[in-house]
Amino acid sequence: MAPPAADLPPPALPHFHRLFWVAGGLLALVAVLLGIDRLALRHLNVDAERSAIELADHLLRAAPEVVPAMAGGQPIKLSAQAHGALGALQGIAGLFHFQAYDVRGQALLLPDTVAAGPATLPWGALTGAITEHDTHADTPTPAAALSGVPQLALKHGNGLTLPLVYSVAYVPVQRGDQVVGVVSVYLDQTERADLTAASFRGAALLASGALMASFALGATLWRRRLLAERANVEKLNYLAEHDSLTGTLNLASFRRRAQAACDQPGGAPDTPAAGEADGLALLVVDVDHFKDVNDHHGQAVGDRLLAQVADRLRSVLRGSDCLGRLGGDRFAVLQTGVAGSEDVKALTERILRALAQPYALGDVTVQVTASLGAAIHGVDGLDAENLSQHAEVALLRARAAGRGTYSFYDPALDAALQRRRQLALDLAQALAEGGLQLHYQPLFASGSGALLGYEALARWQHPLHGPISPGEFIPLAEECGLICALGQWVLNSACRQAAGWPGSLSVAVNLSAAQFSDGPGLVQEVRQAMQAARLPAQRLELEITESLLMSDTDQVLGTLRELKALGVKIGMDDFGTGFSSLAYLWRFPFDKLKIDRAFTQGLERDAKAELIVQSIVSLAHALGMRVNAEGVETEAQRRALQRHGCDELQGFLLGRPQPTGKLAHEASAQTYPEAVT
Ligand code: C2E
Ligand code: MG
Ligand code: MG
Repeated sequence: MAPPAADLPPPALPHFHRLFWVAGGLLALVAVLLGIDRLALRHLNVDAERSAIELADHLLRAAPEVVPAMAGGQPIKLSAQAHGALGALQGIAGLFHFQAYDVRGQALLLPDTVAAGPATLPWGALTGAITEHDTHADTPTPAAALSGVPQLALKHGNGLTLPLVYSVAYVPVQRGDQVVGVVSVYLDQTERADLTAASFRGAALLASGALMASFALGATLWRRRLLAERANVEKLNYLAEHDSLTGTLNLASFRRRAQAACDQPGGAPDTPAAGEADGLALLVVDVDHFKDVNDHHGQAVGDRLLAQVADRLRSVLRGSDCLGRLGGDRFAVLQTGVAGSEDVKALTERILRALAQPYALGDVTVQVTASLGAAIHGVDGLDAENLSQHAEVALLRARAAGRGTYSFYDPALDAALQRRRQLALDLAQALAEGGLQLHYQPLFASGSGALLGYEALARWQHPLHGPISPGEFIPLAEECGLICALGQWVLNSACRQAAGWPGSLSVAVNLSAAQFSDGPGLVQEVRQAMQAARLPAQRLELEITESLLMSDTDQVLGTLRELKALGVKIGMDDFGTGFSSLAYLWRFPFDKLKIDRAFTQGLERDAKAELIVQSIVSLAHALGMRVNAEGVETEAQRRALQRHGCDELQGFLLGRPQPTGKLAHEASAQTYPEAVT
């Protein structure tokens, strides 16, 4: 079963994404460090060149005789003053050697004037080291600087005779546009290189820290976005597959899952644990009388009830089972791990028990039952559609059996259902094409035996199946929505035919409860039927049954009053077979009570029936109603009913239902031809 939307786990980020981000961060760090080292070197170069140019300038100013000597190409013996000034320069900015060259690259200054090493080093050692250094191939030469561009190289010394890091620069000396010589400047860069490297590395660390932080931030934001997008996609998928009210699968996705499960070799959607059976069953669950809850408590309460029904269903299912809502108050369960019908029966009983507990729905507490139909995969069908159809057929049987119960699919039932469906189609056709007739059963005055009128009873001669009893086709018409049209046809036909009888005879027409769903419409139909047939209202009687008074009583009583106001009589049919009759007898002034034939026929067998008939008669008379006894089949019954004071008698003894053309209106209870047959 899929969990509700709120329970969805956050989507996991794949492992390789994390690796990607870590590797990316490290690479960026290495790149920053390498770049920073190059930057530090460049900075050192620029700095060394600037210092060399400045020092060369100082040098030439401190020893003004150098430039003229360059032109002459003669070795220079510096003046004492220049010597002193140069000596002072040597301590500045790490200068440890310098020389002047003429345009041929000839060194002009004598060695003792040009080199001053670190205080610890002897002059000679330094001079030797520099001579050796100058022979290196990558060292710039004075000749290269004669082009007018200063030449510079950073070098590494041994730290004893030469500094660990130093720069060698050849700075061209110009007079006017002409290069007249070159000055070489050797600077100790050890300390500066250390400082530069340290500060650049610090900056690099800061920069890479910031880079890593922004990288991490970017990664986090990106990951969050990714997760949010995935959560959205999953939520959309969830909504597309689930019913928003109950959180169960919707019809389409339930069907898909059920079909996928049926298509799997073992049947079950999830691999069953070892030793578990892998069969499937499809159960259809319907909440009984759900419409009543909606009608009485409102749709919001109905919605809450459905949500709780779904919760209870979930609570009795296993993780591998599937729950779907087929629409309205109907749910479906795909049960897995079914070894046989016993497993299905066990779950079915668990479901019905769980659903029958009271529901607290805000201010109201409601108790309902459910009906359930089940079909087993492999036995009752192989694909999901077949299984659902068969589970629905089984559900119909469960509902017909009185609801609050379950039924398994049975092929014989299916055939009965098919016949019923076909019969409904045939009935609609018969109604449209005039295939129904009315027969009339006479009603006699008990005392005088005079004919009082007839009860109209619908008849259907089916072209294939022969006569079909109204006990079968009236409920069928109620079920498939034909009863109002049928009722209207009966009313019109009965009024029209009765209008041709002697004026003293009445006609009784049976009404179904379904015809009262549109009360004003029914009143209108009755009025029109009488008007069209020109039948006086006092000749028409309408018979209703007790079941009508069990639902929406106020509306029904209102309609009955309006009908009575038209002048027609209202009779209560089949009295004594329902539940609620006594409670309503004083709320509506019925004109007649018709004692059900079960009591009439019980008169000879059971003394209690006699007592009941007696009580009904005295109760009805006390309330001002006439009493009719139905189903009189024997003389003994007739005499007993007369003795108990019944006003009217009706039954096969006195007359069977006949078409209007065969009615002998002048007959009486004593002379009616059927009475002697
Ligand atoms: P109901 O209104 O109680 O009609 C009396 C039923 O008892 C009729 O059955 C009638 O044939 C039968 N009956 C009469 N005398 C005897 C007797 O001595 N013995 C026995 N065993 N039965 C007797 P039917 O015609 O089969 O009608 C059955 C029910 O179908 C009726 O019961 C009525 O509820 C319903 N029905 C018939 N026609 C219509 C109709 O036009 N509209 C509606 N709404 N219901 C109808
Ligand atoms: Mg009747
Ligand atoms: Mg009856």
